[in-house]
Amino acid sequence: MFRLDEQTQMVATMVRSWCQSQLAPKIPALEHGEEQPFDLMKKMAKAFGFDAMLGASVQKRIAKLRAGEAEGGSVEKTLGAGVGNPMMMHVVVKELSRVSPGFAMGFGVSMGLVGGAIVAKGTADQIEKWGLPLATLRQIGSWCLTEPGAGSDAFGSMRTTARRDGSDYLLKGGKTFITNGPGADVFLVYAKTEDGGVATFIVERGMAGVTVGPPFKKMGMRDSPTSEVFFDDVRLGVEHLLGGKEKGQGGRSDTKDSLGSERSGVPAMAWGIIERCYDASLQYVREREQFGRPIGAFQAVQLKITDLYLKLRTVENVVYRTAWMQQNGVKDMPFVNASKAMCAQLAVDAALTAVQIHGGYGYMEELGLEKLARDAKLLELGAGTTDINLLAAARELIGVEARASE
Ligand SMILES: Cc1cc2nc3c(=O)[nH]c(=O)nc-3n(C[C@H](O)[C@H](O)[C@H](O)COP(=O)(O)OP(=O)(O)OC[C@H]3O[C@@H](n4cnc5c(N)ncnc54)[C@H](O)[C@@H]3O)c2cc1C
Repeated sequence: MFRLDEQTQMVATMVRSWCQSQLAPKIPALEHGEEQPFDLMKKMAKAFGFDAMLGASVQKRIAKLRAGEAEGGSVEKTLGAGVGNPMMMHVVVKELSRVSPGFAMGFGVSMGLVGGAIVAKGTADQIEKWGLPLATLRQIGSWCLTEPGAGSDAFGSMRTTARRDGSDYLLKGGKTFITNGPGADVFLVYAKTEDGGVATFIVERGMAGVTVGPPFKKMGMRDSPTSEVFFDDVRLGVEHLLGGKEKGQGGRSDTKDSLGSERSGVPAMAWGIIERCYDASLQYVREREQFGRPIGAFQAVQLKITDLYLKLRTVENVVYRTAWMQQNGVKDMPFVNASKAMCAQLAVDAALTAVQIHGGYGYMEELGLEKLARDAKLLELGAGTTDINLLAAARELIGVEARASE
């Protein structure tokens, strides 16, 4: 179980070489906002044959839905079927994250969170129109839940509303911290309906009333553009309501499914960050000499290498278990929530340790380690903060309900 099969290993090698030749040279321009990553994402999808791999399984789902066969669905089942095994996608995310966790995040949000949610929960027409181009990265998607006043309390404090107007809805409100916002073709937007429930809407860029703010300046993940998105009475026909129903599809519990799959993707990002930190540090302590000896001869440095190694193996094991759970349909939300929090923290610690091992050189942009340290911090904030994830896990383990305000 704890080894990549031959095919997955081949994909890992292919992605690593693509990252070296195509992604790494673009990092300075992406980091400094001179370029956006969206064309590169589309190029990557073409290079890896996502169209053929995922397109076929999405088409299969459309055909089943049209024949009245398919019932329900999850991102793992629908997109996972096209990829072959869930580990394959984790390995892609890990390899991308070695070079650019921001690129991995933008790709994961577009294809998995937005494309995956539409493919899993949408009607056949919605999947054909929006799910297919998003899942194959011909289009870019943004997942719009967070609002200026609604972060950890995303549902309770949500102010964005979808009001009925005849057979249409009028969407009003604003979302913030939206990954891919500056370049997205499609926004998946969560809004309160008149009965106080939450429904999900598919909104297109360019529709009357949709505006997107400029990219935020951020501590890290600078190669992943983030912005606000505003909706000013955007008129949406019922064909824009995910699943075609206010209740039962695209609502609060489905959003939690999406949050679960978002959290399940974080360990793979942490894996990539930590592995790169370990590889770079191991090489450096063998080569860098001080006091006439390689710094790897000093015990204080040796302890840091073991520490990085253990973090690497710990996170790797979490990813294997996550993939195994996804492959076998095992639900273990306390594990998903708590392991996301732990892997995020290990990634931050590992990146700072790698900077320390590299001394002043580690602090310089050229080595890319200071970037990983800044990027890793986001893993402790996005997809629920560390404390929120740990508390959710504890509540599930103990069997106590969240207070209404949590
Ligand atoms: C770069 C970036 C990209 C993002 N991308 C997206 C995206 O694509 N789509 C999207 O919808 N959102 C996105 N987010 C938003 C992200 O999910 C939120 O930032 C996160 O959920 C935390 O919300 P908040 O920032 O409002 O913090 P708050 O909820 O205000 O939390 C502030 C602090 O209070 C603590 N806290 C809050 N409530 C409790 C409690 N009940 N118990 C204990 N501690 C508590 C938190 O742990 C935290 O330390 C992104 C954020 C960033 C920074």
